[in-house]
Amino acid sequence: MELSTLFETVLWFRLSVLLILGLCFGSFLNVVIYRLPIILNNKWRQQAQEILELPMESSKKLSLSFPSSFCPKCEQKIPWWTNIPLFGYLAVRGKCYSCAQPILLRYPIIELLTAILFVSIGIHYNDSWQILFACSFTAVIIALTFIDLDTFLLPDELTLPLIWAGLLVNLHGLFSSSLEASIFGAVIGYLSLWSIYWVFKLLTGKEGMGYGDFKLLAAIGAWFGWQSLVNVLLISSLLGIVYAITLRLLGKLESGKAIPFGPFLGGGAIASLFFAKFMML
Ligand SMILES: [Zn+2]
Repeated sequence: MELSTLFETVLWFRLSVLLILGLCFGSFLNVVIYRLPIILNNKWRQQAQEILELPMESSKKLSLSFPSSFCPKCEQKIPWWTNIPLFGYLAVRGKCYSCAQPILLRYPIIELLTAILFVSIGIHYNDSWQILFACSFTAVIIALTFIDLDTFLLPDELTLPLIWAGLLVNLHGLFSSSLEASIFGAVIGYLSLWSIYWVFKLLTGKEGMGYGDFKLLAAIGAWFGWQSLVNVLLISSLLGIVYAITLRLLGKLESGKAIPFGPFLGGGAIASLFFAKFMML
């Protein structure tokens, strides 16, 4: 039997592959979430120095693949086996191998979350192409969610390719009802939040959202069509309100302090992946 037929027809095989891929991708996403904002910040500083004709200060070379994993606290390289998703964390009992400082519980949680979502995609879809693209979409959404939580940024480097990819995968309507629905989804997704932003800004003088949010909703519209947008906005607003109220009750959010909106748009996007049929207007 061909591998792709095996993947599409034998459920346990499909789910095992997705479980392992999910853990590995989750581990890579941890690197992206930690390093991409630093890489971008270095790039912007460099550009600013060039424009202002300031002497170039050298920043440490950092890319997604270089240097190999290190502990952010003691900056020591970590042994390869502690890098094994989930099991590495358990093997060192959540402490750095060199300096014994606790490792953020978030790392194994992101690995587990990615694996759970990949496996759920494998249960929901059985077409290889749909699974491949749904997993790629989910990976980018996870990266954007945690980068936004950390830095209030939704980098163009992730949101823009997600828009183009959404239009391409729907050339024959893989996730949306048609290419037309996807194009309108991208445009209406962007413009709806853009309009809310300007109404809010003119009324209150404050900025309620960022341009990254418009691009993220444009991407979601491209992937699932304009029909999904109302429900995505409802779900994400609801999630955002529940989150803000919870933080207020726990005393962790002062009044007037902003919370990022990207993670909740991400939640709406993931919901579309599984409930697209129920989420159409
Ligand atoms: Zn350390």
